[in-house]
Amino acid sequence: MLRLSKSCISDAEKKAVLSVLDNEFLGMGPKVKEFEDKLSSFFGRPVMCVTNGTAALHLSLQACGIGKGDEVLVPSLTYIASFQAITATGAKPIACDIESRNFLLNISDAEKRITSKTKAIMPVHYTGGVGRLDSVFKFARQYNLRVIEDAAHAFGTTYKNKLVGSFGDISCFSFDGIKNITSGEGGCIVTKDKKVINKVKDSRLLGVEKDTDKRYRKERSWSFDVKNQGWRYHMSDIMAAIGLEQLNRFSEFAKKRRKLAKKYDDLLIQNKNIKLIPRDYKSVVPHIYVVRIIGLKNRELIIKNLNQKGIQVGYHYHPNHWLSYFKDKQNIKNPLKVTDEVYHELLSLPLHPDLSEKNVSYIVKELIKVIERNEVK
Ligand SMILES: *Cc1c(COP(=O)(O)O)cnc(C)c1O
Repeated sequence: MLRLSKSCISDAEKKAVLSVLDNEFLGMGPKVKEFEDKLSSFFGRPVMCVTNGTAALHLSLQACGIGKGDEVLVPSLTYIASFQAITATGAKPIACDIESRNFLLNISDAEKRITSKTKAIMPVHYTGGVGRLDSVFKFARQYNLRVIEDAAHAFGTTYKNKLVGSFGDISCFSFDGIKNITSGEGGCIVTKDKKVINKVKDSRLLGVEKDTDKRYRKERSWSFDVKNQGWRYHMSDIMAAIGLEQLNRFSEFAKKRRKLAKKYDDLLIQNKNIKLIPRDYKSVVPHIYVVRIIGLKNRELIIKNLNQKGIQVGYHYHPNHWLSYFKDKQNIKNPLKVTDEVYHELLSLPLHPDLSEKNVSYIVKELIKVIERNEVK
């Protein structure tokens, strides 16, 4: 089976994990510190590691003082994690539409949904693309909003020759098993805002003040104060050991992901049934490869047919504004036109560094065959 996505693990990661196990210190210790230091050099900004990308978003929002009574603008076409991170603080996610051109947050649509309760905007770098990120920051300055980037898809992507995470307000990454690099589970927050840094350092450790630095010295806090709600969201040395090796291998991963995505583009660009999501792979390191199949009616049948050919496919995402927990009467009055129009037609094709260009050719050949049989439209 050609998998839709997977972790790519070498002997280096296995050895690194064994050496942490041999230490018999598995919690948050020197390996996490080392991983944070390496990530800080990568981004050129302070980095705090946490258990996953969702926790990174949750703690970032909390550190900005966002909670009950507040609203956060976010595209509906994202992983549930973006929405759940917002509701976790007590705030309300305001589902926004995307631009049909690039599938990224539509600022004019977001502007229509602003109220006096709006405190932040969470752009989602869908598939790894960032679009006109400058206009998001401009919009945020205009309305005095915090910008918490959901950069889970965009590890390694650059914007105007700067790495995503190296500029802006707060950027959150995920290191879950299938992301551009993994630490098993894991995630990180990148920011230069000292207040946010100090708050996150405590809140990831149940709110115990100054616990982070003690743990890096393999010490514990016995006498301490807690002034805020905290969470058990810190990273472990086992995870960091995997992450460090993956970071070493990242340029190799990035090269391969770009090559495969370009190959898909080349093979599909002429097809009249398919619309590509335009991404410039000189700057984007793609996390997933999504196509839009014009007029697609029976996605389940495509999935079944391709599975029978040994190809695993899926789709990203079921829009959040259609999920029971996030449904909002506002969206009946003010529909998300592009999202509602395109999401039935999206299909994600396999993309991970262990895939070959030959695999991509085979996947495309089988995809076109299924579409041309005309049972799916
Ligand atoms: C993976 C992902 C997250 C959350 O990351 P986890 O590490 O799985 O918690 C958030 N947003 C998007 C768009 C993601 O793809």
